[in-house]
Amino acid sequence: MKGKFPTEQFQGMETPFYFYDTRVLRDTLSSIRQELGKHDNWHVHYAVKANANPKVLNIIREAGFGVDCVSGGEIEASLKAGFPASKIVFAGVGKSDWEINIGLDSNIFCFNVESIPELEVINGLAAEKRKVARVAFRLNPNVGAHTHANITTGLAENKFGIAMRDMVSIIEHAQQLENVAVVGLHFHIGSQILDMGDFEALCNRVNDLQDELDRHHIRLEHINVGGGLGVDYQHPNRVPLPDFKAYFDTYAKKLKLRSGQTLHFELGRAVVAQCGSLITRTLYVKEGAFKKFAIVDAGFTDLIRPALYQAYHKIENITSEEPVEAYDVVGPICESTDVFAKQTDLNGVRRGDLLAIRSAGAYGEIMASQYNCRKLPKGYITEEF
Ligand SMILES: *Cc1c(COP(=O)(O)O)cnc(C)c1O
Repeated sequence: MKGKFPTEQFQGMETPFYFYDTRVLRDTLSSIRQELGKHDNWHVHYAVKANANPKVLNIIREAGFGVDCVSGGEIEASLKAGFPASKIVFAGVGKSDWEINIGLDSNIFCFNVESIPELEVINGLAAEKRKVARVAFRLNPNVGAHTHANITTGLAENKFGIAMRDMVSIIEHAQQLENVAVVGLHFHIGSQILDMGDFEALCNRVNDLQDELDRHHIRLEHINVGGGLGVDYQHPNRVPLPDFKAYFDTYAKKLKLRSGQTLHFELGRAVVAQCGSLITRTLYVKEGAFKKFAIVDAGFTDLIRPALYQAYHKIENITSEEPVEAYDVVGPICESTDVFAKQTDLNGVRRGDLLAIRSAGAYGEIMASQYNCRKLPKGYITEEF
C-alpha cells in the first residue's frame, strides 16, 4: 500500500481502470448534507453526466440526493439506480420526443425548458398522455464564469437557455397552455468555478429577475441555480473536499428567495471528481533528445479532459519510491494531443509501474470512447478490494 491505494491488489489487474475511493465520496456527500441541513427547502440534484457508474450512483442515492439528467439515457440510468422520479430534473437544449416521453411516463419532478419550440412539443406530448408536465425555464443570465472558455454556459453567446428579456412573455405564454405547469426558473453558468463572486453575480441576476416577476404578479415554486462548483485539481490529497461552506453560504447570503420557494442545486464535478483516479500501467520509459517520456497504457480514450480542455491532473507513481524526476506522461493513441502531463515530477518510473491520474472521477469514465478500437475502462470502488 502506497498512499491511499491498494497497490498490491492493483498489480495483477487489467489496466487502465478507474478506482473510486468511496471514503472520499462519502465524506464529500456528508459535507454537502451538513451544509444543506442548515436550510429547509434546499435540494441537491447530482448531475449524472459527471459520472454514471452504477456503483457511484448507488452511493449518491443512498445519501438522499436527487439527480439532474441531460438525456433520456441518464433518466433511465437514474431510475435503474433507484432514484425516485420525483427528484429528477431534466435539462438539455435538444430533447428528443422519446426522451420527453420517458420523463412524462415516469412523472419526473421538472423539465428544464430551453426554448419556445421545446415548450410547445412538451405541451403536445403531454396532451397525448393527458398529463401536465412540470416545467422550469432555463434562462441565460449572461453571467460570465471565470473558467475555461469551453465550459462557460451562461453567456448570451452560448447556445443554452432563454434570453432574460423573454422571460415574462414566455411564462405568460406557457400559462395559456393546458398541459404544462410553470413551476420554476433554472440557471447554470458553467463548470469548475472557484470564484464565489461568479455565483454572487448569478444571485444578483436572479434577484433582479424575481423583482420583475413580482411586478407581473408571477410567483414560482422554485429556483434552480445549477451547479458548477470547482475542485482543487492541484492538491487532491491536501484539499480532497471542495469548499461547500463558502459555496452554500454565498447563496444563503446573496439570494433572496420568496416565502415558500425551494432552492435547487445541480452539482456534478464537486461531488465526484476527487474520489476518482485513473490507474494506468507504464509500458515504456523512453529517453527523448531533451526529456523522458513515460508511455502509459491509458490514453485520451480513457480520460479526455487534458486533450479537450488542456486540463491539469496531478499524477502519482504509486509503485515506486525512487528519487523524483520530470517526465512527459503520454498515452498510446495516434494523436499528438494524447498527453496527460508535460514535465511532471514523478518518483523514478520503470516499465510496469502503476501511475494514478488523480481527480478523475468527474467527466472521466463517462466520456471514454473506443477510438482506435480500444476497450472501455472498467470502474471499481474501494469495497471491491
Ligand atoms: C453539467 C451540468 C451541471 C453540472 O455541472 P458541474 O460543473 O459538474 O457541477 C449542472 N446543470 C446542468 C444543466 C448541466 O448541464
